[in-house]
Amino acid sequence: MDKEKELKKIKEEVKNCKKCSLFKERIRNNYYPVVGEGNHQTKILFCGEAPGLNEAKSGRPFCGAAGKILDDLLYSVGIKREDVYITNILKDRPPGNRDPQKEEIEACSPYLERQIGIIKPQVICPLGRYSMNFLMEKFGLKDKIQGISKIHGKVFEVKTLFQSIKIIPLYHPAVAIYNQNMKEILEKDFKILKNLNFHLSRLKD
Ligand code: URA
Repeated sequence: MDKEKELKKIKEEVKNCKKCSLFKERIRNNYYPVVGEGNHQTKILFCGEAPGLNEAKSGRPFCGAAGKILDDLLYSVGIKREDVYITNILKDRPPGNRDPQKEEIEACSPYLERQIGIIKPQVICPLGRYSMNFLMEKFGLKDKIQGISKIHGKVFEVKTLFQSIKIIPLYHPAVAIYNQNMKEILEKDFKILKNLNFHLSRLKD
């Protein structure tokens, strides 16, 4: 099966998924699941925590205030949003934007793991501490996990069976909504992506 088909299959599965109670919230509120979007051939995958209200109403990741910051950050290092892939650990919105719960992460994260397996990015940027904790643990970096204020912007190299992947934890863009200092820290961390100095899409190699 090609990437498009495999990713479409995940989308269909998520639409019908009833593995946690967030499904009921989606139906009750007429929300969409937010599976992910972007370039399937990309080398960089960003992973946030969970959709917020704007995202659940539109079905698109990072399209509200935090998304505007993410767009600015990408622009600041000359990366087009359509050249990367953006997703979340949870595909449905937790009520009131509360933090993701352990059972929800357990139920939903296999979709993310499959997305990573299909897209095979060379760089994964967890956005925020939930995503950082989940992804660092998944890639065998549990003993390297510290508070995000300590390890944001650090590059962790991991070798999988087929490739080597750089995991670069970043602050969640929402931290910069009302805080210019945090935006500057994020901008500095994003420069790492620019300095990796590779063409973003494998198609363009
Ligand atoms: N915050 C997230 O973590 N993900 C989104 O898609 C939007 C806001």
